Amino acid sequence: MSDTSADCVFCKIVAGDIPADVLGRNDHAIAIKDLNPQAPFHALVLPVAHHENAGASAAADPTGTGHAIALADEVARASGNDDYRLIANTGASAGQTVFHTHFHVLGSAPGMTESL
Ligand code: 5GP
Ligand code: ZN
Repeated sequence: MSDTSADCVFCKIVAGDIPADVLGRNDHAIAIKDLNPQAPFHALVLPVAHHENAGASAAADPTGTGHAIALADEVARASGNDDYRLIANTGASAGQTVFHTHFHVLGSAPGMTESL
């Protein structure tokens, strides 16, 4: 699997070619607001490296995947959500629609509107 995929909307967001509301970033991942929020706080954390799903990212890039989860925790807490849900849908029948690994971060506190 290459680090980027030409047809991938999340690779384009990571590259800055498609705009997104960025909530935070580190060397391995960025956190953005979900376009269609399902909770008062709904962020997506995208590892920079393109892999199809969380399991593939963990196998190929365990360090980057760990840093992505650490960023999820950071943006959740910064938004006032010490308690939150971290979800990685895997496969179309489980609801995955974008095949670039992403973690949904869902919290009940609406939280921050500004980037970290
Ligand atoms: P999935 O269904 O694959 O687990 O989640 C994909 C998520 O990406 C959905 O919650 C959807 O709202 C979000 N999404 C899809 N396209 C875009 C986009 O271009 N920008 C942002 N910010 N979110 C997107
Ligand atoms: Zn991608």
